[in-house]
Amino acid sequence: MKIWMNGRLVAEREAKVSVFDHGLLYGDGVFEGIRAYNGRVFMLDAHIERLYRSARAIALEIPMKPAALAEAVVQTCKANRTRDGYIRLVVTRGVGTLGLNPYSCSRPQIIIIAAKIQLYSPKLYAQGLKVVTAGTIRNHTESLSPCIKSLNYLNNILAKIEAINAGVEEVILLNPQGYVAEASGDNVFLVKGTQLVTPPASCGALEGVTRNVVMDLARADGMDVREAVLTRYDLYTADEMFLTGTAAEIIGVIEMDRRMIGAGRPGPKTLSLTSRYRRFAAGNGTPIR
Ligand code: PMP
Repeated sequence: MKIWMNGRLVAEREAKVSVFDHGLLYGDGVFEGIRAYNGRVFMLDAHIERLYRSARAIALEIPMKPAALAEAVVQTCKANRTRDGYIRLVVTRGVGTLGLNPYSCSRPQIIIIAAKIQLYSPKLYAQGLKVVTAGTIRNHTESLSPCIKSLNYLNNILAKIEAINAGVEEVILLNPQGYVAEASGDNVFLVKGTQLVTPPASCGALEGVTRNVVMDLARADGMDVREAVLTRYDLYTADEMFLTGTAAEIIGVIEMDRRMIGAGRPGPKTLSLTSRYRRFAAGNGTPIR
């Protein structure tokens, strides 16, 4: 595998970061997970834009223009003959001293990995996931905004540990006010009648690229799509529930906190949005030339 690092494609064993990189020492950096389908990078500009917003929010200046970084993603896919894959774009604060001061760091390290991902088995997509509510509260928007896709994912990891320990696949995190935020690595949606509802980013959700695509597809399909403050009651009593993310795509949720959601299997809207999403993703994106 060829890894893109700071402007060069290098062999995997040569792709190394310093032990003094603040990305390693403090989780100080930002990242994106991007999919390629059918020889195209899906929603590349949306991911690049979010990366630069995340970087700006942590006062990290990416030493490259967004268009050049987007092109580097395409070139990394090309070098790895990627047609369908998962791309990880990482920007660390760079090599610094052992103190926290980010301004001691020399230069951000930019890394692009073009690999594969399979989060859940095909069986789980057909059957749907079970989830529980995490005891771990999603980061307060004014401690570490969930809108920032930072390298510090401990909040999410602590929640994911709860899922694994509870014997289920995912967790739903609440925000400090007790409202639904998101899953550990995905956004959450509910269907109620003709309504499709997801929490606003201000409730502690990442503004997911998949989330936005799904909202557009549902609107085009005549659904009444809204962002709203949600409680667990709203999820327990929904007709359907599903999660969205670049890696997970769309996956139904059939049980939450031992309550059956809807009919206990992925619902018709979930399944129809899944096939719409697959079709859209297969035919759109930046060609890997
Ligand atoms: N929330 C969190 C915490 C995430 O890490 C992700 C991405 N894995 C998402 C939501 C979904 O975002 P996207 O659709 O842009 O991948």
